[in-house]
Amino acid sequence: MRERTKSMSTAEIGLIGLGTMGAALALNIADNGFDIAVWNRTTEKTTAFVDKAGDLASRITGTDTLEDFVKSIKAPRAIILMVPAGKIVDDQIAALRQLLDADDMIIDAGNANFHDTNRRARDVGDLPFLGIGVSGGEEGARFGPSIMGGGKREYWDRVAHILEAISAKHKGQPCATWMGEEGAGHFVKAVHNGIEYADMQMIAETYGIMRDGMGMHHDAIGTTFADWDKGVLRSYLIEISGKVAATKDPESGKPMLDVIVDAAGQKGTGRWTVIEAQHLAAAIPAIDAAVVARNLSAQRQTRAAGQEMFGAAPHHLPHDSLSLDTLEKALIAGKILCYAQGFEMITKASDHYGWTLPLPAIAEVWREGCIIRSDMLDDMASALRDETGRSLMLAPKFAKMLKETHGALRHVVAQAAMHGLAVPALSSGLAYFDTMRTARGTANMIQGQRDFFGAHGFERVDGGTDQHGPWGD
Ligand code: NDP
Repeated sequence: MRERTKSMSTAEIGLIGLGTMGAALALNIADNGFDIAVWNRTTEKTTAFVDKAGDLASRITGTDTLEDFVKSIKAPRAIILMVPAGKIVDDQIAALRQLLDADDMIIDAGNANFHDTNRRARDVGDLPFLGIGVSGGEEGARFGPSIMGGGKREYWDRVAHILEAISAKHKGQPCATWMGEEGAGHFVKAVHNGIEYADMQMIAETYGIMRDGMGMHHDAIGTTFADWDKGVLRSYLIEISGKVAATKDPESGKPMLDVIVDAAGQKGTGRWTVIEAQHLAAAIPAIDAAVVARNLSAQRQTRAAGQEMFGAAPHHLPHDSLSLDTLEKALIAGKILCYAQGFEMITKASDHYGWTLPLPAIAEVWREGCIIRSDMLDDMASALRDETGRSLMLAPKFAKMLKETHGALRHVVAQAAMHGLAVPALSSGLAYFDTMRTARGTANMIQGQRDFFGAHGFERVDGGTDQHGPWGD
């Protein structure tokens, strides 16, 4: 083996998988003063990585074989896996197990489905295992991600000093927190991604209203997002949306958004969140709408055929029918409702899996480093801390904000509907709001129907369960 930088058994931690995220995370670890050993399936990548590490190379041990990799880490070892989720993780764990001692720890830092993490935590037997969700993309991984940990607390405590050091900081506080046992960290990361889908979709819908409904040019749209980024909506996603809208294609000189195909990609984490929400009977309609919107965005041919068959909707809103101020307020309301749904899902999972997920700490860990970081999360953390178990919608600060903005959301959704502009996430947010403030809903009709055709029984408002109606023939 060609030893590139350091002697054996000196690394405080090891990392496998020098792809986009792994390479950035390894540099971050070295940058924070920890010696790290790295191994990658394709050896050339390891060589190139160490060669390009500059001053940090002195803290990095590049290895050619898994055996040398394991030997170069101080026992008891901690090894981060940063490889694609699924079978590759299982295979990598199996290969490592043959080389590790009983108290060595494996940390899966990829985007694992939390059910897999639950299973792995059990399958590895006594071998310490952590599943950590890492958010923030390549830049976050390099300079400070948000880290959501899952597994036994004692395992987290063994590496917390490293994970906290490399994480993003909010006013000096690390955005790296232990969430609970087994797959709790990966579960919280999945909900984070679900919220991210909905946040992005709602922003895209306001972009569509500005572009198609209000006839605004991309420069003006970029300026509007930049203005919103100075107010209540201040967040990474609003900031980058403004920059994306304002950027020109160097080749054609057109706005970049005009040259990008309107079909959104996805790696499946939003879909996992929606599927899991159904298992938990958690209501996350804005996230669901966002995942569906991505699926529909891929159906370009059918959408084009639909436009040919039915004609394009009128789209243009009547002059002065909608102001940018109203649109901003609608997005504020939509965002609060989307996060209320995400936190409700976390509450349900916490009960279901017995995890005691720390809701305020989750809002805190998302304040910096991750894609959904925003100023509003600071207030959400306070609201969730004030009263556990209460919907974010009902927390005084957010209830006041919703009272001030839900009318705008209704106006925007109504205008959009009247003029054929699709706003699935905003409208599902509004339907959620209307449902959740209706004490007497319409499910009595459903119960009547169920009893009529299936004798399923119902509860009477004046007392008595398992009642049946006099339906007759
Ligand atoms: P990349 O595709 O950039 O890198 C994948 C890495 O995994 C490479 O080092 C690759 O090695 C290695 N690898 C692939 N297949 C195997 C295999 N069969 N056996 C061993 N090693 C293998 O992926 P990312 O860095 O983007 O993602 C890594 C993980 O991080 C994923 O789980 C992803 O979902 C998650 N993640 C990604 C984010 C992002 O923004 N990209 C954000 C947050 C999480 P080789 O060089 O030999 O191909």
